[in-house]
Parts: sequence; structure tokens; C-alpha cells
Amino acid sequence: MSNRVDPNLIRELQEYGLKDASKCYNCGNCTAICDLSTPENPFPRKMVRYVQLGQKEKILKSPEPWLCYYCGDCSVRCPREADPGETMMVLRRYLTSLYDWTGFSKRFYTSEKFETMAVGAIGAFVGLGMIIWAIANWSMINWQHADVSSVWSTEGIEIADLVMAGILSFFLLTNLYRCVKLVLGDYFKKIPLKMYYDEMKYLLVQFATQKQFDGCKTKGNRARWIAHLAIMTGYASVFLLVVVFVNGLPFMGINFLKFQRGWESMGHVREISIFNPLRLIGYYSFFALMYGTSYVIWSRLKKTQPQFKNSHGTDWMFLILLQATAVTGILINLGHIFDLPFLTYAIYVIHMMVAIPMLVLEVPFAKWAHLAYRPVVLMLMKVKARYIAENENAEGAAELAPEVAV
Ligand code: SF4
Ligand code: SF4
Repeated sequence: MSNRVDPNLIRELQEYGLKDASKCYNCGNCTAICDLSTPENPFPRKMVRYVQLGQKEKILKSPEPWLCYYCGDCSVRCPREADPGETMMVLRRYLTSLYDWTGFSKRFYTSEKFETMAVGAIGAFVGLGMIIWAIANWSMINWQHADVSSVWSTEGIEIADLVMAGILSFFLLTNLYRCVKLVLGDYFKKIPLKMYYDEMKYLLVQFATQKQFDGCKTKGNRARWIAHLAIMTGYASVFLLVVVFVNGLPFMGINFLKFQRGWESMGHVREISIFNPLRLIGYYSFFALMYGTSYVIWSRLKKTQPQFKNSHGTDWMFLILLQATAVTGILINLGHIFDLPFLTYAIYVIHMMVAIPMLVLEVPFAKWAHLAYRPVVLMLMKVKARYIAENENAEGAAELAPEVAV
């Protein structure tokens, strides 16, 4: 592994929110108390040291930033107030931007102006497009009953949703591929595909439950884990509901649980039982997202917990877009239930203006991406350890041993 020193690294990391890593005097206290640090992957001291020494290439190949769930314990217990937990957070932002081959992520994390303008531009483009579409189909609009499918054709929305899901998946997956290659290094080519397949269950469990997060035994961590889980499951369930059940399956001619085709179901929501599983998923998603985002927004405003003291612009943007998507989503549902056509159509436009920028920008390039990187890296570490245990001798095992002090 290269030891080339990058003298500009600290300055570069400051653009991502790094405060003062030079305070660290390398005592190792933080690594000793971290519940998630292991002999195979010790942190955060090692990562703070890499930062101090300008070891950009080592950081690029390090899995450790993704193994930290920012409980903040190390920052509280650091005798030098070097805030190692925040350094790990900064490194996650930095790595997200390095994995991203488009350069968007870097612009997002280093310029609040660019982030705001990108979100605003996509939102305006979507809003304008929908208004033009509505004007072009004015005579078809149902003003007697709320029914979005009378304004924006079901087929058009289905296709637009699926295209958008395809685009964001493409960017997310190509960035993930780069992450996997970097983190595994030489093992990338050695490990057989079957081993990844065998550990897929572990990946899915980590993704769905954020189980590793609950491994931090710090006081108050359980409440943060529940909020994190609520955001994660709320987001995943609404994505499943919209992309798979409301658009994907109906697009393929499969009508599910009495929901009519695609968004036509919205116009008939009054006729569908409140206990219909798809409706229940939608309501669960709303309450979970509201609970999770409100908890985090409140904590960031209060700043009493170490991990919420330094909020980056991307943290706020993600929370605001997510909460606005949830609120407008439930208002559309209520608009259909109480049969208020104009209000429902207006809120639907606003909903798409916040939901689409959140999906196409936040998922592959910004805050959301860590929800994918974390479980993937956890799985990679498991696969790598298994490969070494099954195929290599002591030489290979040594590579997994704790790093010597740098
Ligand atoms: S960050 Fe703090 S606790 Fe960790 S090694 Fe440096 S001085 Fe010690
Ligand atoms: S923030 Fe928590 S999980 Fe992360 S390095 Fe510090 S003690 Fe470990």
C-alpha cells in the first residue's frame, strides 16, 4: 500500500467539515472505548492518524469510516477534545465523494450553494413540466372528484417513475462498485462470487435492521437507533410501495390487492379498505419518517448530543426533503379521501418537486448513500475474513491484523 503523503489532505477535508484533527496526540483512548472497533478493523484513532499524516490513499481503501455509527462516545472521552467521532463522519462524506465518478457528490458536499441550486433546479424543472402537462390536458381534468390520474396520465407517471428508479440505481450501483473495489483491494479479484452470494442475507439484515448500530452501548444510543431504523424502514417501504406495487407491478399488468392500475388507485382510495396492506404500508411509512426525521431535526437544533453538534448543509437538506416528501405524501392521500380536487393536484405538484430531487440527488450522491455503503462494507469485511480463513495461510491473516501505529 502506498505511503504517499498528501500535504493538502487536511485543507481538503476542512471543506467537508473537518474541525481540528491536529489536537489528537495519538493516545488510543478512543479506539479502546469504541464498542464497534475490532482487532481486525480498529478505529477511530487510526483514521485520525491517517488524516494527520496526509494518507489519502489509505483512507480511500479503508472500510473503517463505514463501520462507525457515530454514537459520539469517543468524542466525549477524548482527553484532547479532538472529536474523533466527527472526523469519522467527515471521512464518510469524503469517501462518498471519492467513490462517485460523476463529481456531483463532491460539489454537493463542498458547496451549499451548488446543493441548493441543484435541488431547486430539478424541483423547478419537475414542477414546470407537470404544470405544462396539466395545461395541455386541461379539458380532461376531473374537477368533481380528486383524482391525480385524470391530470397526469397513469402510463406517463409509471414510465417516469421507472426511468427515474433506473437512473438513480445506475449511479448508486456504479458508485457502490467503486467502493467495493477500493475496500477489497487485491481481494476483489480473488474472492469467488459465491461467497458474496452466501453472505447476501447478512447484507439484507444489516440494511433492513441497522443491527450494527445497536451494537453501540452508549447511553441514549437505543433512541438514536430507533429513529435511524424508522427513517430507514419508512423510506424503504414507501420506495417499495411506489416503485414496485403502485407502478412496477401494474405496469407489467399485475394488479395487487385490489389497487387499481398505478396512480388510478389514488382516485379510488376512498373505496379501498383502510386495512388494505398497501394502504397500511403507506401510513406506516408516513409515521416512521415523521418520527425519525423529527427526532433528528430536534436533536440537531438542541445540539446536546455530540453527533448532532456540527450539522453539515447536506444533513439539513436530506432531513428537510424527506420530511417534506412525507408531509405532502399524506396530504395527497387526505386530499383524495376528503375529495378536494384542486388542493390535491396542487399538493401533488409540490410533492413531486421535493420527492424527485431527493431521490435523484440524495440517493446516489449525498446523505442517503451511506445507508447503502454501510451494510455493503460490513458484508465485505465478513466475506474477506471468511476468504482468508478458508484459503490463506498466516500471511493472509496478518493482513487482517491490527494496523501498527502510523
Ligand atoms: S482522538 Fe483523542 S482519544 Fe483518540 S487518539 Fe487522539 S487524542 Fe486520543
Ligand atoms: S463515534 Fe462511536 S462508533 Fe464511531 S468511532 Fe466513536 S465510539 Fe466508535
